Amino acid sequence: MTTLEQPLVKAVGAKAAKRLAALDLETAGDLLRHYPRRYAQRGELTDLDSLAEGEYVTVMAEVEKVQGRRITKKPGYLLEVTVTDGSGTLTLTFFGKGAHVPERELPPGTRGLFAGKVSFYRSGRGIKRQLVHPEYKALPGSAGADAAREFAEELIPVYPAAKGLTSWQIADCVRMVLDTADLGAESLPEQVRKRHRLIGLSEAWHGIHRPEDMAEAGRARKRLKWDEAFVLQTALAQRRRAAAELAATPRPPRAEGLLTEFDARLPFELTEGQRVVGAEIAADLARTHPMHRLLQGDVGAGKTVVGLRAILQVVDAGGQAALLAPTEVLAQQHHRSIVAMLGPLAKSGQLGGGEHATRVALLTGSQGAKARREGLLDAASGAAGIVIGTHALLQEHVQFADLGLVVIDEQHRFGVEQRDALREKATGGRPHVLVMTATPIPRTVAMTVYGDLDTSALTQLPAGRSPIATHVVPAGNRAYWDRAWERIREEAGQGRQAYVVCPRIGDDDLPEESPPGETPPEEDEGARRPPLAVLDVAPKLGEGPLHGLRLDVLHGRMHPDDKDAVMRRFADGELDVLVATTVIEVGVDVPNSTVMVVMDADRFGVSQLHQLRGRVGRGRHPGLCLLVTDAAEESKARERLAAVASTLDGFELSRLDLEQRREGDVLGESQSGRRSSLRLLTLLSDEDIIREARTEAATLVDADPELRDHPALAAELAALLDEERAEYLEKA
Ligand code: ADP
Ligand code: MG
Repeated sequence: MTTLEQPLVKAVGAKAAKRLAALDLETAGDLLRHYPRRYAQRGELTDLDSLAEGEYVTVMAEVEKVQGRRITKKPGYLLEVTVTDGSGTLTLTFFGKGAHVPERELPPGTRGLFAGKVSFYRSGRGIKRQLVHPEYKALPGSAGADAAREFAEELIPVYPAAKGLTSWQIADCVRMVLDTADLGAESLPEQVRKRHRLIGLSEAWHGIHRPEDMAEAGRARKRLKWDEAFVLQTALAQRRRAAAELAATPRPPRAEGLLTEFDARLPFELTEGQRVVGAEIAADLARTHPMHRLLQGDVGAGKTVVGLRAILQVVDAGGQAALLAPTEVLAQQHHRSIVAMLGPLAKSGQLGGGEHATRVALLTGSQGAKARREGLLDAASGAAGIVIGTHALLQEHVQFADLGLVVIDEQHRFGVEQRDALREKATGGRPHVLVMTATPIPRTVAMTVYGDLDTSALTQLPAGRSPIATHVVPAGNRAYWDRAWERIREEAGQGRQAYVVCPRIGDDDLPEESPPGETPPEEDEGARRPPLAVLDVAPKLGEGPLHGLRLDVLHGRMHPDDKDAVMRRFADGELDVLVATTVIEVGVDVPNSTVMVVMDADRFGVSQLHQLRGRVGRGRHPGLCLLVTDAAEESKARERLAAVASTLDGFELSRLDLEQRREGDVLGESQSGRRSSLRLLTLLSDEDIIREARTEAATLVDADPELRDHPALAAELAALLDEERAEYLEKA
């Protein structure tokens, strides 16, 4: 008996195994998890008119006409078999001596499966579709009228086929594995199976690959989805449990200290949400177990204040806090604004420093040696209660005297492993962790990717926010175009500021440093011009429509000091217009800016655009966001932009984004999606299964944390974690 871990060679032979390897299928288990994309009914013929050029297809059709003839040109013989679905036709073309075989095997009336690459050719009155030298398989008993009824009703699995491997060849291999392999031990506990009416594993493997009817396939899918959800949720439940067992130094609030002084200095009232979440966090920090909390809140919801208040509580209790930002610009901005908000409270040891004052250190990857040394020293000695930085904070030589809290801003840029790396830096117990994200995360994603975190949400924006109006501007429309720049001039005339965002830096062909998973969905529209670049657009605007305004650029290739200087000048109102890449996407907070023009807006993802426009309308004046695009009016791209323009609901938009991306991207997997642990489960539509699996997994892990009574589950879990680790190493 083959086991699921064994290489495919044993079950299907060397030749087939080699072809399957090209699909990344190495073991019997891999092949069984290569699920059919859909099922074809024997009776049901493929709609031949819908076949697209260049596509690899497997079609079911009936032979209508067979015509062989000698030709004078080289291969000497040409066979054309015309197949039909009853209305449309498709030509199968075979050349040479070999053509006599299909001529014999495919008499008119034969129903069969035909696979190959669709090509178009001109013939007489119109375009015809053909498959050249297709693979084919006649369905038994089909020639003639009395095809057995059971044949007509049987389902045929259709696999994602590939060059050199037809769907039915894959099906044959699968059958060999199904017949010979030990189909693996049950990993779902019987109780769980019973409660949720799930079929057994072996039955499910058969049911998904060789179902007798759609109901059977459906039962099999449900069961296998459960496996995916359950293993994942068990892993997350174990993480939560392990975290809960760790010790952390409690950092209870102090009656008098930095936090109370800070609250007294705050120029605004906390919103209800900020107060409630603040109290949750304050209580978490006072516990002897590390907090692991995710704080969600749409752009501008006021997460920074919540994070900062948590930080101050920890500093009051004698600990240090690290604030981790995804970009250099954002780290610098946090540093600037936190120092400003704290005022005298950030001036420990300096003239005018408050009684409870602390120091705020900044550590980024490319700051000068002297500044860096100072920051490192302040972190290690404990002089700095607050250390703000980018990934540089994760480096080994960064040490803290007593790290009590890690606040991670804009979580979606950080993986689980990076969170862990920071946690390791606490000596004596783990630090508390607060993760803040502006990307509204659909519930299902929160339950999976972030399933090891408790969650809180800020659901309202602070009062007095002005709404942002968003419009799509077709680049070809001269009047709109002129009006866009006129709007910027008007705002500048009122003393307000604007952003112009471009997808690319320019001056070379390097793409902007868009983080993985944030790239907008590919749309194959043939060769497109390169996206507009900051370094091209800025001078054109400066000499053209924005002539006379104070304008500068900001992008990821600039030296950090220069970035900081430009951001400062913009924040201080010394610039009217900032032409930038997505470096300004997250967190940049200049309330005086009111207009944003996004060039080539179709090159950005939906969530990204939502983040971007969150940069305007942060103050008293209404915000305006113009999405400039030359995408065709009826295109998918325009649909996306229209969606962004139609709603300010980030949650709705993130659902839309999710729909357009593959699940693997959401989980931060590599683009290829290779070996994604989620094949059947979709985060959008399987919320029920995910929720139920989460509850079941928690119960199971509570009763049996080490999974001693569930060896099969433990083995699957180990395999999943190995893959995760491998993925991470590959990326690193
Ligand atoms: P985000 O959640 O996007 O990180 P920020 O924390 O940057 O939002 O807050 C956006 C702006 O709102 C900042 O200028 C901040 O000072 C301000 N702000 C935060 N909380 C309040 C509040 N309760 N009332 C008024 N303004 C607030
Ligand atoms: Mg923020």
